[in-house]
Amino acid sequence: MATIRPSPSRDPLRPSSNSLSCPSRAPLPSSLQICGSLRKPLKSEDTHLRILGSVKRRSIQIMEASKESPGLTREHMDKLTKRSEETDSDLGPFLDLKNRFLGYRRRTFLEDPVSYQKLAEAQEPKFMVVACGDSRVCPSNILGFQPGEAFMIRNVANLVPPFAHGASETNAALEFAVNTLKVPNILVIGHSRCGGIQALMSMKEEADSRSFIRDWVFVGKSARLSTKAAAGNLSFEQQCKHCEKESINGSLLNLLTYPWIEKRVNEGTLSIHGGYYDFVNCTFEKWTLDYKENMEGGSKYAIKDRCFWG
Ligand SMILES: [Zn+2]
Repeated sequence: MATIRPSPSRDPLRPSSNSLSCPSRAPLPSSLQICGSLRKPLKSEDTHLRILGSVKRRSIQIMEASKESPGLTREHMDKLTKRSEETDSDLGPFLDLKNRFLGYRRRTFLEDPVSYQKLAEAQEPKFMVVACGDSRVCPSNILGFQPGEAFMIRNVANLVPPFAHGASETNAALEFAVNTLKVPNILVIGHSRCGGIQALMSMKEEADSRSFIRDWVFVGKSARLSTKAAAGNLSFEQQCKHCEKESINGSLLNLLTYPWIEKRVNEGTLSIHGGYYDFVNCTFEKWTLDYKENMEGGSKYAIKDRCFWG
């Protein structure tokens, strides 16, 4: 089991010793006045850094003295909090989010503290999901993933670049999920009316204008090519639908270009799956990529366990 833990970096809101350097070397008073409020004097054994000398020690003492609310007194913080409560009605779309969060907190943290705490300690997801960033295809919504069940990365057109493509957010997430979390399943989810796939299918070969979208969706160029070959006579909409599924299979094959994925698939400890969510009819199709040497027919790949929900 493993978990992502925040690095023990310094709180960015906490002033550094440099920014709090003493204007003079005069001894500090027994009570320190920080931003107008009195703080308790610190015990000299509070930090091992005192061995660095008295000037350094004073800097550290000031940092410690301001630990409670860096740069702001408690009174000031209270005022800000009150002001925030007073403007609750001006939260706009965030008011909904606030209420949803408080509902979530009630159902999890307050009603089931044991499970919540367990989840706070570690994660052991059964799925690594690659899905499109489209706001209509949130996997947690449509497949009901609960916190801790799926490690997820969402990008334009749910593409997985091949190993040779180099570092990207997508393969960084895959590396962590596969090598550290040891997920037993990777699921790539495509969807209907995907804007990223439309961009891929409509791009001009000779276009010289650069765009981040164009450069990214070009990862799916082999799906575009095979779609043009197999469905080039169909309408643009039908070609896109074809390419939406074709690119999922392209991504499944690209997954196998990562040595640490191929190794675990060969060992039988990792399965890779495709999914296609059609939000026009609200249906979901799922399949698994079978991969092994010397498969019947000479191919290494086959689709198995295809099923259709809806
Ligand atoms: Zn999409």
